[in-house]
Amino acid sequence: SPGGRPLRLAVIGSGPAGFYTAYRAMSKIQDVKVDMYEALPVPFGLVRFGVAPDHPEVKNCQEKFEEVASSPNFTFIGNVSIGTKSDHPDGATVPLASILRHYNAVVFSYGAAKDRHLGIPGESTLKGVYSAREFVGWYNGLPEHADLAPDLTQGDEAVIIGQGNVALDVARMLLEDVNVLRKSDIAEHAIETLSKSKVKRVHIVGRRGPMQAAFTIKEVRELMRLPSVAFHPIDTSLVPPDLKSLPRAPRRLMEILLQGSPTRPDDSPPPTKSWSLDFLLKPTQFLPSATSPTRLAATEFARTTLSSPFDPNAYALPSDSSTGDSSSSNTTVVLPAPLAFRSIGYRSEPLPEFAALGVPFDDRWGVISNDGRGGRVRHEERGADAAMRVGAFPGLYCAGWVKRGPTGVIASTMEDAFATADAIAEDWAGGAGHARFLNGGGAVAGWEGVRRESVGGGVDTARVVDWEGWRRIDAAERERGRAVGKEREKFTRTADMLAVLG
Ligand code: FAD
Repeated sequence: SPGGRPLRLAVIGSGPAGFYTAYRAMSKIQDVKVDMYEALPVPFGLVRFGVAPDHPEVKNCQEKFEEVASSPNFTFIGNVSIGTKSDHPDGATVPLASILRHYNAVVFSYGAAKDRHLGIPGESTLKGVYSAREFVGWYNGLPEHADLAPDLTQGDEAVIIGQGNVALDVARMLLEDVNVLRKSDIAEHAIETLSKSKVKRVHIVGRRGPMQAAFTIKEVRELMRLPSVAFHPIDTSLVPPDLKSLPRAPRRLMEILLQGSPTRPDDSPPPTKSWSLDFLLKPTQFLPSATSPTRLAATEFARTTLSSPFDPNAYALPSDSSTGDSSSSNTTVVLPAPLAFRSIGYRSEPLPEFAALGVPFDDRWGVISNDGRGGRVRHEERGADAAMRVGAFPGLYCAGWVKRGPTGVIASTMEDAFATADAIAEDWAGGAGHARFLNGGGAVAGWEGVRRESVGGGVDTARVVDWEGWRRIDAAERERGRAVGKEREKFTRTADMLAVLG
């Protein structure tokens, strides 16, 4: 290491991107101290608050993260939000500028905590229209959405807009037997609400066709195999006639969609619920109920056609594009349902200080501008002389969803975090070492420095949760779970999490 000093690395966000970057950096760089900042009192990001409760095996990565956290070179600083006001009243906020003063390098791995909008009438005004992100946060006990209280009792149909794996998770939560979910770590309030749900029929709607859908085989198969749940056959004209010519993954997916639910024994009870994949429909408006105008009654869609039906990259065109006639009703479809979820993707935002500090954020893709693989923060700018200049930001890196955009499973997030850590290791070992890092790569105090400055600046850091604190919260949640026969009963309020710590 340059000058024999440790590299002081701040990681912002404790999801898979943050933990895998920390893990790799600690194994690649001989002398490194990692401080991980997390806005919530509890770690793991979407592993805790996104991954569905009936996918416990996906959460096994937490064991690896526990191992990372047990290193003497690792410090967890929970309940401290960087640069942006904590969205819960019990948390502290530390300015990014303060972080930059006390580290040699910073990794932004704060994920994508907002959602994309459809921008159609009724979306944010009608009762009954929810965002999948809120709903997922709610059933997973995310404090921000603990009070969502979705009303699942207004009717028996639900519409989900979007055909990614998150849409399928939402559908499964609505269709699965509550007694199966009861044993998972799903929030107690969700069990109460789901057990009163009247939803029996779920439409999962997409603008494009099965060949373009974002969901994957495992998640589709899971829905197909739910007992007492039927699948409505898809429009087979959208499936390529010659399946054999397709690569393995899309071929399997098409076969599963054509096959539908497995044949059930004759003596098994008839299905009580059902779901469908509705293709080639673009939402145009949410329609209010005639009797109760603040409530959703139906969702209206315009039919689309595909630029090339079997091409995975095909795009959706208005189906009336040749005639220019949008009035005829065969171009419009109305799905009556008092419940609709938009599930069209998560979205990252720049930290509020980015603009002032000159950290580039690409609004179009919703990512921090970076060099791609290595996650080095940089941007390209055309100067007054029309020459392109690459603006590099010494010591700044990014990883995970805020680097790549909000897609991809934990395994791809891991690979991408490893690439970021490798870039940091390479830069630190490189000849130009010092100049490529914050504070000239010189001695800095890390969290100690930040804390001193924060207290001086009137920030209350008394409620910081360290790893030992998380262990106690974890133990308390497991204890609560044992009492009701589940692995864990999460606290859904930050005040309750902090109360464990006295
Ligand atoms: P995140 O996991 O979102 O972590 C970001 C962290 O940063 C959060 O803890 C957040 O609180 C924190 N943070 C945010 N802002 C700040 C700030 N200003 N200061 C400090 N901390 C901050 N993948 C699978 O492999 N299998 C699945 O079954 C699966 N299911 C999923 C279900 C859903 C609903 C979703 C949304 C995703 C799912 N994924 C699944 C994908 C997986 O969750 C992501 O690939 C992964 O979590 C992305 O990691 P990340 O670290 O970039 O972001």
